[in-house]
Amino acid sequence: MKAGMIGLGAMGAPMARNLAKHDRLATVWNRTEATAIRLAEELGVERAATPSRLAEAADIALICVSADADMLEVVHSLLPGLRPGAIVIDLSTVSCATAREAARLIRSQDANFLDAPVTGGVEGAINGTLAIMVGGAADTLEKARPVLEALGRRIVHMGDTGMGQAAKAVNQVMCAGINEAVTEALGFGARLGLDMPKLIEILAGGAAGNWFLEKRGLTMIQGQFKPGFKLALHQKDLKICQTMADALNLRLKVAEMALEDYAELLKLGHGDEDISTLYRLKRPAS
Ligand code: NAP
Repeated sequence: MKAGMIGLGAMGAPMARNLAKHDRLATVWNRTEATAIRLAEELGVERAATPSRLAEAADIALICVSADADMLEVVHSLLPGLRPGAIVIDLSTVSCATAREAARLIRSQDANFLDAPVTGGVEGAINGTLAIMVGGAADTLEKARPVLEALGRRIVHMGDTGMGQAAKAVNQVMCAGINEAVTEALGFGARLGLDMPKLIEILAGGAAGNWFLEKRGLTMIQGQFKPGFKLALHQKDLKICQTMADALNLRLKVAEMALEDYAELLKLGHGDEDISTLYRLKRPAS
């Protein structure tokens, strides 16, 4: 069973490399053609001219693009090439409603859809250690599992279509809180005059230790904010979370706090930086 990869950004490109390493990649497509040409050449696979051609050439079409409208645009454009029984898996982070709309479109071609958002960062995509939360039919997941195993270590079926994205929304709220906590605490530490690399080393080994502190702690105190996970994408996710919470009459205070800070950073032009750019607002003024 071979896959085609649509969207060769910070996440999609390393995913494609891992698929190729496991001999699971047939073809790639990217909106910016030059990116697809380069990667197809590097991996020795075909570059599809359109998403529809990619769907014709692969058993499974994997999508990893920025936001809801982008994912639906890609789904619309791959429909003509989709074979009955084929599988389309969306690895992007979008709303549950968008996942359900994509599933409806894919089903109209007698094909199958899974929403399968991921977590584990660019490092997880590079190392093939992503956690993948899946919504859709369990038997479709079992068919697709060998392909997903090239991308991640933990693959969990969360329920019907949309429930993968629901799990991812919970993850994104948690990440917002972790970002707020880590950047604010490190800003406090810098203000106390602590040796920051030593502080990060000791804290990472204790109860406050976490993935974000370990992977982004040193770079943020050095003022490096190369993505990683772009702030603008996390803002998009948190807005999705807010809409979902509103429908439940629920308030997500942590998400609200992060959205307020992110709005300020976006206004300053930091949207394409890693989310650890939040440290800009928390570190002591020099
Ligand atoms: P990225 O580096 O900005 O890449 C975005 C990709 O989407 C690019 O290939 C881009 O094509 C493509 N794209 C955007 N709009 C499109 C459209 N309308 N039609 C076709 N292609 C389009 O983003 P990323 O970090 O890889 O994130 C991709 C998805 O994964 C997002 O939903 C994000 O929330 C999620 N995610 C990211 C991380 C992370 O740590 N980065 C972790 C988990 C999940 P071009 O090359 O033409 O711009």
